[in-house]
Amino acid sequence: MSTPSVIVEIETALPIPAHLIGELQSKLAYVDESIVEAKVQANKITLVVQEDGLNDSLKEKVARVVSSMVKGAIQPKIQVLESHLERPVSYQLDPMLELARRGEISQEAYGIYSLGPLLSRLIAFFESQFLELADSFDAAPYRFPTLIPARYLERVNYFRSFPHSLSFATHLREDLDVIDAFAQSACCDADGAVQAGERTFAPIQTLLSPAVCYHLYFALADRPLPSGKLAATAVGNCFRYESINLNSLERLWNFSMREIIFVGPKDYVLENREIGRQRMAEVLEKIGLAYQVESANDPFFIGEFRKQAAFQSAFQLKFEIRARLPFKESTLAVGSYNYHQDFFGRNLNITLPDGGPVHTGCIAFGLERIAFAFLAQFGLEPAGWPETVREGFHE
Ligand code: ATP
Ligand code: ZN
Ligand code: MG
Repeated sequence: MSTPSVIVEIETALPIPAHLIGELQSKLAYVDESIVEAKVQANKITLVVQEDGLNDSLKEKVARVVSSMVKGAIQPKIQVLESHLERPVSYQLDPMLELARRGEISQEAYGIYSLGPLLSRLIAFFESQFLELADSFDAAPYRFPTLIPARYLERVNYFRSFPHSLSFATHLREDLDVIDAFAQSACCDADGAVQAGERTFAPIQTLLSPAVCYHLYFALADRPLPSGKLAATAVGNCFRYESINLNSLERLWNFSMREIIFVGPKDYVLENREIGRQRMAEVLEKIGLAYQVESANDPFFIGEFRKQAAFQSAFQLKFEIRARLPFKESTLAVGSYNYHQDFFGRNLNITLPDGGPVHTGCIAFGLERIAFAFLAQFGLEPAGWPETVREGFHE
């Protein structure tokens, strides 16, 4: 429940380099439950904190995060592969306002939305484009579950890399007394949290899946890859708990991702990632999207961030399609081109005919995000959209 909040200003011991400001701002969400809002400037962090959550360890924890992110940080060279940010757009407002007014979005909780017909049809249009791209690689279709075993994520180091964004699934223990007691007395408190007796829930063995391509790697684990290479595609629900950063359709707890996945020798994966980028550039040109493709890193957890991010950037492992959001003069990642080297091949023991580990890579699109970015650039009236989208959009 919301309680009165206070502003806490913290002068940082180390200056915060410009390239880490956004990253640090999003990490502060996970520092203390009392933090409602965080703003990072070069020498100062401003927090909005729930008054009754104020505690002595807050400043110490913030200092710890700053030091672990900033000390010895090297500014990565941002490599720009394509720049089309200047493409003309026709809308300047935040589409959330008009989407809400028209009943096109309905917020169920933080980061959880249902989408109405306009968004659903627009996403279907983008999906048709992604499926054509997948077809151009003869990618085989797959369907993956929404749940993923904890054992799987542990095996690919996910707990270590992204603990902050995990979402857990459980169920009642199989015990008549537990189930009876739950049915009789369980209820939601004022915050919507389920109140139930101790030892009601079973141990957590399953999570909500954070990505699509992992499921394919697990399906291929512990044996040789039959044909030596594989292109596959799937769409799925993905879950990343991003705390107070869960705002609007830009950052959801529950979102959908379409992936095109390549498994095989290094050259096969890298060549197809690049061909995919080039083919996608043609699609995005037809769509009229204003965007840029640039090097990036994954949002690793604080302790892992510096090392892992530097590694990704040094080896050009991740490029993001960042679409322009005119209403806030910023950009938003609507997709990414990823190369994992032989990480999954080694950890999951997937081998090539020569006995070495496979390399993997994926092209991943955030479906809600691409629709959101498109609407932010062209508005909600199909009549004002670029012709390709108008024609491909089926009412
Ligand atoms: P960001 O940099 O915005 O945190 P990411 O680097 O974690 O995103 P990827 O892991 O590359 O994202 O996932 C592929 C795509 O999935 C992203 O480009 C984005 O379009 C979408 N996506 C990722 N996280 C979210 C989210 N929380 N809500 C909505 N879409 C998301
Ligand atoms: Zn992937
Ligand atoms: Mg990113």
